[in-house]
Amino acid sequence: MYIGAHVSMAGGLDKSIERASKLGSNCLMTFASSPRSLKYQIPSVKVIEKYKQAKIKYEMGPHFFHAPYLVNLASGDKSYVNASRDLLISYQQLAGEIGGSGTIFHVGSHKGSGFETKITQIVTTINYILDSSPRGTRLILENAAGQAGTIGASLVELREIIDRVGDKPKIGVCLDTQHAWASGIPLDKLLDMFTHEVGIKYLAAIHFNDSKTEFDSHVDRHENLGQGKIGKDILRKFIANCKLKIENCPIILEVPGDGDGPRKKDIDYLKRLVV
Ligand SMILES: [Zn+2]
Repeated sequence: MYIGAHVSMAGGLDKSIERASKLGSNCLMTFASSPRSLKYQIPSVKVIEKYKQAKIKYEMGPHFFHAPYLVNLASGDKSYVNASRDLLISYQQLAGEIGGSGTIFHVGSHKGSGFETKITQIVTTINYILDSSPRGTRLILENAAGQAGTIGASLVELREIIDRVGDKPKIGVCLDTQHAWASGIPLDKLLDMFTHEVGIKYLAAIHFNDSKTEFDSHVDRHENLGQGKIGKDILRKFIANCKLKIENCPIILEVPGDGDGPRKKDIDYLKRLVV
């Protein structure tokens, strides 16, 4: 089973592998550029070489990128959509170069204008990105908590996007347990609902988080496992269901830890839930 965490790439992408390994992870997720900007800087050839060596040395499994939260394919500003699109293309090309799994991203927010008014723009942009995405990488839509017009809080919206994507082997979904909970989807039904609405073959990763906010709150706030409103029992049952129904789907922690993200004890906690 692949168990990992969102780790920092401070000091270079190669450093993220050692960080993930020290946490006890066998897969990982990182940004591939500053999360506070839509600008992208290509890592040097030397960093990529060091990265590849580290990946072999630490026997690291799948590496997912997470796009900056600034990305918004549903924006009303065309230049902003294009900047989001170009950043995602750069992420996908880097993923191809390092043997990464692809890029998990939040589709964005229609800011009240409605999903149906934006779906054509979203799908056209995704198809453009996929055209220049290397084979073997996936562009991965994350389900949303549903605050302020965010797209993908309902599985139906994710399915409607995927239905209209041309190059289906290059698209996937990441299910975030906190976002599903906050959007009002019971976690004991999530995998079955996903299988029915979207199709389990599209499931690329799981973000496994407890929640600071109540069920159906529509607020995106992650909490350390067992310390939030979802709680240990529901999280354990969800993991047991994952073991039964999905093969080799990476489970990635995005919990706050002490404020700097997942700690080794958070990974250890998850491993105890899996047993
Ligand atoms: Zn997430």
